[in-house]
Amino acid sequence: EPVQVDTVIAEAVDRTRTAASAKQMVIATGGEHGLVVRGVEAQLATAVTNLLANAVAYSPEETKIAVAARARSGFAEIAVTDSGIGIPRADRSRIFERFYRVDQSRASRTGGTGLGLAIVKHVASNHGGSVTVWSEEGVGSTFTLRIPLAAGGVPDPDTAIEIENAAPERAVEKG
Ligand code: ATP
Ligand code: MG
Repeated sequence: EPVQVDTVIAEAVDRTRTAASAKQMVIATGGEHGLVVRGVEAQLATAVTNLLANAVAYSPEETKIAVAARARSGFAEIAVTDSGIGIPRADRSRIFERFYRVDQSRASRTGGTGLGLAIVKHVASNHGGSVTVWSEEGVGSTFTLRIPLAAGGVPDPDTAIEIENAAPERAVEKG
């Protein structure tokens, strides 16, 4: 069924706002509005929530998170960008596995179970989409969730705004 990307992002931001505020972090939203995808709203909201929760968990206090959507070749791309600790290259291909966490000593401080990204990957593939990561240690990470647009899911170009700052073009590794 058709799902509004704006609604998915708003729900995910709502669910993450308290955790972000506790670390004096701001979640900025941007990009194109009015995108419609084919899918299950609850699953998509969970996926974006998991990405935002990670952005909060693995970033220092007082940093900014950006979540932005855009249409690209038949897909809605939802990009979550943080200025956090980043992910070592050697771990990048494994973080989407169930229970995989980078460096137990650093991971134990945040107390997760290592399921968040496995769920994101599952939701992406359920929808015929994908999730990819760009990351650099000490710089930050961008996770991009791609979900097929519904027919007519691309809004009027007049409503599209620049999102390059929120979600820069970067080399990505597939999950
Ligand atoms: P859970 O989400 O189940 O509470 P988790 O956050 O450890 O636990 P995932 O969300 O699957 O599990 O993430 C797996 C690992 O990938 C994390 O433990 C962390 O090491 C790394 N990771 C995920 N997102 C980020 C990020 N935005 N920045 C840095 N590291 C990240
Ligand atoms: Mg997580």
